[in-house]
Amino acid sequence: MARAERTGIVIVGGGIAGASLAWFLAREGRGDVVVLEREQSLAVHSTGRSAATLSELDGDPTLCEIKVAAAGFFRSPPDGFAAAPVLRPTGVISLVSAAAVPTLERRERFLRSIGLDFRTLTPAEAAAQVPALEPTEFAAAIDVPGDGRLDVHEILSSYYRGARAAGAELRLGAEVRDVVVEAGRCVGVATDRGEIRCDLVIDAAGAWAGRLAAMAGASPIPLQPMRRSIFLFPVPAGIRCAAWPEVISDAHSVYFAPEAGEMMASPMDEVPMEACDPSPDDETIAAAVERLARLAPALRPRTIRHRWSGLRTFSPDRVHVVGEDGARPGFFWLAGQGGCGIETSSLVGRVAADLILRGATTAFDARRLAPGRFVADGRASVARAV
Ligand SMILES: Cc1cc2nc3c(=O)[nH]c(=O)nc-3n(C[C@H](O)[C@H](O)[C@H](O)COP(=O)(O)OP(=O)(O)OC[C@H]3O[C@@H](n4cnc5c(N)ncnc54)[C@H](O)[C@@H]3O)c2cc1C
Repeated sequence: MARAERTGIVIVGGGIAGASLAWFLAREGRGDVVVLEREQSLAVHSTGRSAATLSELDGDPTLCEIKVAAAGFFRSPPDGFAAAPVLRPTGVISLVSAAAVPTLERRERFLRSIGLDFRTLTPAEAAAQVPALEPTEFAAAIDVPGDGRLDVHEILSSYYRGARAAGAELRLGAEVRDVVVEAGRCVGVATDRGEIRCDLVIDAAGAWAGRLAAMAGASPIPLQPMRRSIFLFPVPAGIRCAAWPEVISDAHSVYFAPEAGEMMASPMDEVPMEACDPSPDDETIAAAVERLARLAPALRPRTIRHRWSGLRTFSPDRVHVVGEDGARPGFFWLAGQGGCGIETSSLVGRVAADLILRGATTAFDARRLAPGRFVADGRASVARAV
């Protein structure tokens, strides 16, 4: 029988999560890394289907802090990271409903305390930036002028360029079918092309992260993939929107932004489903068109030119799961990126690399991301240098 191949770290999943970790490991000189991606090309799943937005505002304080800490990387990437800018700072305006006004002051204090650069707008000020907005539909807006549109392709390929330069290998069309466990410890993976032995298996499998964890006998953390859809439509005649910021309205459950000469919008749907290749349904899109037309009547789409869906995978508290499993040493979670895996990759990838290499990080309070927070017996994850 052929001897199993051996490497230091196997990353399962070649999306933004796996790519960013490979890059941060490479920066620390760790090139004994193999990234295994089942698909024949990159960005087939969530990473290739996102809205490509950097929006630091988040209703969850932990995610908001992560996003603010992660954003600087995209505004001024490390020297040599990418061939072109990876962020177009068009601005992002989040509308505040009348119901949310009583908590606005407290929210502003929090946002200032974590260093977010924002300003609060009246409806008239917001409509001055986006004249299609109906000002009676919202009570205020939070404008983050430094946020905007990310170049996901450039970010993903730049992570891989850096990782490969340090010796990491990306294998496409390589499916992990089982996780090899010996004496209670993960020691490798079984792929459709044979076994690979390693010190650490990273679960960066996106919507399939729960399945990989089950193969390893890791802690049963319930990760829930949820469908989200996006549609593109022609900009109605007479509207000059190229310089508009992205607009997000939780109350209308819709966001929109100009995108390469068209308008992109999302119904902000959250439909729980098994890991799969999802597609949008007519009813969801039609209902979003009506909500969008109420918020921005002049923008009412007449035709939908293109639409797609992807999965956003959430942990029970909707924050990432990062760290070695407490029940299965050798198995490391890098999952639950939810709706912000691209914009948070520059911090979360670093946290994961720090935990793997040093068992600790100064980049963020890693306990807030630890898999142990979901484990009933309180066995916190242990990070171990390999
Ligand atoms: C419509 C939509 C809009 C979004 N908008 C934004 C946004 O504006 N900003 C933002 O930051 N985020 C956004 N997101 C979220 C973001 O896309 C995800 O959080 C992120 O892409 C998750 O990355 P990932 O690497 O974990 O998963 P994926 O990109 O899905 O990668 C996981 C990979 O693992 C592979 N895999 C799984 N199992 C195996 C196996 N057994 N063997 C080998 N390979 C395997 C899969 O093939 C897949 O390619 C959005 C998502 C959607 C769907």
